Amino acid sequence: MTPHSAPADGPARLDRAKLLAARYKAAEARPYLASALYALTVVPSERVRTMAVDRYWRCYVAPAFVDATGVEELAGVWIHEAAHLLRDHHGRADRLPAADQRDRLRVNIAQDCEINDDLVADGLRLPPGVMEPRLFGLPTGRLFEEYLRDIPASCPHALDCGSGAHGVPAPWDLGEHAADGTAGVGPVEGEALRRQTAQAIRAHARSRGTIAAGWRRWAEQVLEPTVDWRKALTGAVREAAAWAGGAVDYTYRRPSRRTPALGGRVVLPSLRRPLPRVAVVVDTSGSMTEEDLATALAEVSGVLREVGVGGNRVTVLACDADVHAVARVTTVDQVELAGGGGTDMTVGIRTALTAQDPPNIIVVLTDGHTPWPPEPVSARLIATLTDPNAPQPPPWAETIRIPPRP
Ligand SMILES: [Zn+2]
Repeated sequence: MTPHSAPADGPARLDRAKLLAARYKAAEARPYLASALYALTVVPSERVRTMAVDRYWRCYVAPAFVDATGVEELAGVWIHEAAHLLRDHHGRADRLPAADQRDRLRVNIAQDCEINDDLVADGLRLPPGVMEPRLFGLPTGRLFEEYLRDIPASCPHALDCGSGAHGVPAPWDLGEHAADGTAGVGPVEGEALRRQTAQAIRAHARSRGTIAAGWRRWAEQVLEPTVDWRKALTGAVREAAAWAGGAVDYTYRRPSRRTPALGGRVVLPSLRRPLPRVAVVVDTSGSMTEEDLATALAEVSGVLREVGVGGNRVTVLACDADVHAVARVTTVDQVELAGGGGTDMTVGIRTALTAQDPPNIIVVLTDGHTPWPPEPVSARLIATLTDPNAPQPPPWAETIRIPPRP
């Protein structure tokens, strides 16, 4: 009798002790995922190659895979399988165009890319050979719908994470109600598990626990669906520009209505309104990723162009906690991220205000974990925050929160 042969009482000789020890390890390492991990029902199956999930939170496990895999890697796979369900991969797969839906292997690979880059960044161990964006020369941090476009059609890998991932029924699926009378987790309970997990992640982050960026973004997306922050930012800049123009206009440049003609020309008050000067203070302390920074800066530049402010009326200052690190740059490419270190945006704000022609508007791009000036400054301040858990800036600043990518 070989170690892999089946005992008399069933087809699968699953090492449950090892598998459940791995789940315990995963839940201990990432306590905010415990509810999701323990909601999974283990079903031994000789038909799956490794582990797979269905829509009803059943986790099909190949006994040979458990034997061949270390407990630490198994813990990583547990989290991987739970991630397919937490991220509602099957629900999202159902919304793909029909041609993509049929291509379950590519969908599965794209989904694994969405999950695994975060798990690797989170320091989790996974078995060798798992799918990652870098294998396809793709950037990390994307959603599977985006990866799908760039996954080659003839990918030889035969992985299958089950119908809970790609949405296509698998031959081993038991269905919502199994023949033995046990019911899986239904869609309402599944949604409750997602929200509960997202709240646990938020609570963990608030108690200053470390949370991988991918999970934090996902949780915020679940709890707070995206608001149009670009619109909010455009509105804030427009309003601030009107205020800055109006304030200058009113104090000493407003032409008298009684003398509309100057030198034979009609001068409309609006034409005399000076364009505001804008300083953009960018947090380069390393807490913002290069991608976040590029996105936010591109948006701010776009908004400024839209309200007609550009060229030498805009100054960009790169700033971390060190006054020496404040640098004046003219293009987004020149912004360099400093490694780690603290963050103090007051340094950048003060530097901006000491310019020969001080700005009327200061847009601060930061994760939000920074001190703010204790009192209102002479420019209108727009605080643009990328971290949903960042404390609220002072009430005299206009605050725009850029929601995280899911
Ligand atoms: Zn997978």
